[in-house]
Amino acid sequence: DRLVTADVGDGEQRVDHAIRPRRLADYIGQPRVREQLEIFIHAARARDESLDHTLVFGPPGLGKTTLANIIATEMGVGLTSTSGPVLERAGDLAAMLTNLKAGDVLFIDEIHRLSPVVEEILYPAMEDFQLDIVIGEGPAARSIKLDLPPFTLVGATTRAGRLTSPLRDRFGIVQRLEFYAIDELTEIVSRSARLLGVDTDEGGAHEVARRSRGTPRIANRLLRRVRDFAEVRAEGHITAQVADDALNMLHVDHHGLDHMDRRLLLAMIEKFDGGPVGVDSLSAAIGEERDTIEDVIEPYLIQQGLMMRTARGRVVTRQAWQHFGIAPDDRAVD
Ligand code: ADP
Repeated sequence: DRLVTADVGDGEQRVDHAIRPRRLADYIGQPRVREQLEIFIHAARARDESLDHTLVFGPPGLGKTTLANIIATEMGVGLTSTSGPVLERAGDLAAMLTNLKAGDVLFIDEIHRLSPVVEEILYPAMEDFQLDIVIGEGPAARSIKLDLPPFTLVGATTRAGRLTSPLRDRFGIVQRLEFYAIDELTEIVSRSARLLGVDTDEGGAHEVARRSRGTPRIANRLLRRVRDFAEVRAEGHITAQVADDALNMLHVDHHGLDHMDRRLLLAMIEKFDGGPVGVDSLSAAIGEERDTIEDVIEPYLIQQGLMMRTARGRVVTRQAWQHFGIAPDDRAVD
């Protein structure tokens, strides 16, 4: 199991509930996103309108779902959550839309995975707050139109480029989440520690933050694993040294890379001479799906300057060779 995976694990939901920020003011980092949303929310409220449809994109675990919840809270409206793959038939979405109250937020996670028939229903709903639906089949089929209350669709996706352009064009607000800086993650870890009653000093929080792949969900997960270690080995107190020992034991390296990251980089170095290599060859070499490589593993490695995406394929940088203590090859890119 991947410790630094950004997917939500079992038992994590409960803890998550306790530490998830509820208001925009508690949402740490992402200053640009916060500033813009504050203005848009304020303006919409002052006009007594629903907020424009909002698309949030970025790698898993960066706070898209949290933001959807915060938008509903700040607007003072209800929230209904679903996800692209769950909405199989047009009727599934129609049922959700007709249950919304005026101003409500409808959150669709993984919105790039909506089926085309469901997406078709969404266009008039987003644009004119109208439901256009065909009932019955064959000669008896007829089309009915229903008015919907104004609502805000908040869509989340790992990459904006995966949306069809008609869908993307219907969002008035588009926000991209970035990986978090270490000081922001330190603040997130300290806040979570406080809420969970975990005894950690600044150095301990910083060490956990530094090794969290720029991702709050991973920071919170590592904090809980380090707490276990501290309770057994260090009387429950997390210092930088305790965190370092715990994370080494868990094979999370000093860059926050785990075995999947290392496998990807090492495959590029050892099997493909550092690249360029196509993502499909990489996928076959490490036995990981292309989507996982592109959405989960690679964005952080690129942001850290360990690899690059070029027109001819993926290439590792000099820094990646150095990370593994291997002499950089002539072809390595700076
Ligand atoms: P996503 O929907 O992008 O996968 P989530 O919104 O579920 O990510 O965020 C994962 C967890 O990380 C949340 O439960 C929350 O506790 C924490 N988190 C995310 N963003 C922030 C933030 N800006 N400040 C504090 N905690 C955050």
